[in-house]
Amino acid sequence: MRAGHCIRSLHAEQNAILQAAMIGVALEGSMIYVTCQPCNTCAKMIINAGIVRVVYEGDYPDPFSIELFREAGTEVYTYDQGRLLEVVTDKAHVD
Ligand SMILES: [Zn+2]
Repeated sequence: MRAGHCIRSLHAEQNAILQAAMIGVALEGSMIYVTCQPCNTCAKMIINAGIVRVVYEGDYPDPFSIELFREAGTEVYTYDQGRLLEVVTDKAHVD
């Protein structure tokens, strides 16, 4: 642990993308379902892997990742009690 964070692990999104690459599964045009909103590092990997839709249930305090998805044209939804709700982004976070 360093600064309260485990430095020996990957985020689930990163691990999923790497595992797909390892076994030769192309992700272009795919969807990813995750428990929480991806952080901005995972967002960059998701975008560059060609994943076109992200669905998550819980929030994560990283509005920049949502802005990255907006700029990339990635569809982002939250899962709420059986319904998909499109995430509306705010351009104010872009520097
Ligand atoms: Zn992450």
